Amino acid sequence: MFINNEYLIIVGGAGPSRVMMLKDDDGVYRFYPQSLVKQLGNKVHPKYSDYDINAIFNSEGVSYWFKGDGNIKSDQIDLEMVILHELVHGLGFLTSLNDYMHDIPQGLTPYVVGIINNSGSNYHFIEATFDKYMSVVPTGQNVSDIIKQMDVFNNIQYSNQDNFTTTFLSSPQYNLATDLFSKATKSNSLTILSGDDTIFLETSLTPFNSKSSISHFSSKKYTNTSDFLMRFSIERGKTLQQYVKMGGNYANGPIGPKLRAFLKSLGYTILDSTSNAQTSISTTISIIELIIWCMLTISLTNIITSCFIEIDIFLYEKNNAFKILKLGSHLIGYSA
Ligand SMILES: [Zn+2]
Repeated sequence: MFINNEYLIIVGGAGPSRVMMLKDDDGVYRFYPQSLVKQLGNKVHPKYSDYDINAIFNSEGVSYWFKGDGNIKSDQIDLEMVILHELVHGLGFLTSLNDYMHDIPQGLTPYVVGIINNSGSNYHFIEATFDKYMSVVPTGQNVSDIIKQMDVFNNIQYSNQDNFTTTFLSSPQYNLATDLFSKATKSNSLTILSGDDTIFLETSLTPFNSKSSISHFSSKKYTNTSDFLMRFSIERGKTLQQYVKMGGNYANGPIGPKLRAFLKSLGYTILDSTSNAQTSISTTISIIELIIWCMLTISLTNIITSCFIEIDIFLYEKNNAFKILKLGSHLIGYSA
């Protein structure tokens, strides 16, 4: 989260402390944040990290306001609002889409996962749970379907990462990545489903900013509404409660109706504070699917002997800096 109109001041950032690749109910493998895997209630699961979320908060150059401080000053920021915003990122309000191949972004892909085997490596495009709900405006095409079209390199062996990069950048599939990039930098071009509703994502930032674009509600649409919380920037001099009031005094507080519906879609149980009723959707991801995932991992790598030990799977990084993952145990990204 940034301070409004002060691009260089980041007040906080967060992401899941551990993500786990699961076969989703539509047959697609996705990276789930650990906190969401816990909602599935499976007794069999990869090892959890001690903490669900990693978050950072800027302690320098920002004057924070705390409850009980009296009136907020015009240069202060309510820390509770920053914390709440970052926790929502950590719960999975986070896209995988980014440019992992250029210093100056020009094409977007999901996480690029390389798996080492005897004759080289193969590469998969694996999305985040968040991306399952994303669509392109005005066609309504699901981003998951676009990613499926992109993910055609996983049966090919590459001797090194440069070979894969060169192949992908000169392939017809790269056009899908540049099309996604153009959507991510044009207002009102990407939405996510939240129940029966849609949320317009932040796609008006130019240049594209991987910490602010996409993984936020559109500032233009949701400033001064009950869904103000997940905009990428915060104005100084207003408390969280003042924001709630400006948004129309939503009865359930700062987590607005669209965000609540989206978190419910992800798999979280939602408490209605006015009636004390809890609601959730049932998920169809079962223990069996988790086991199938483990078997798939074994067949892809030939080097794994069990589901829960270290494997040679790495996230694609710029400048050939491979990052070796332990199975499901990596901070895979964060949003500001
Ligand atoms: Zn944010």
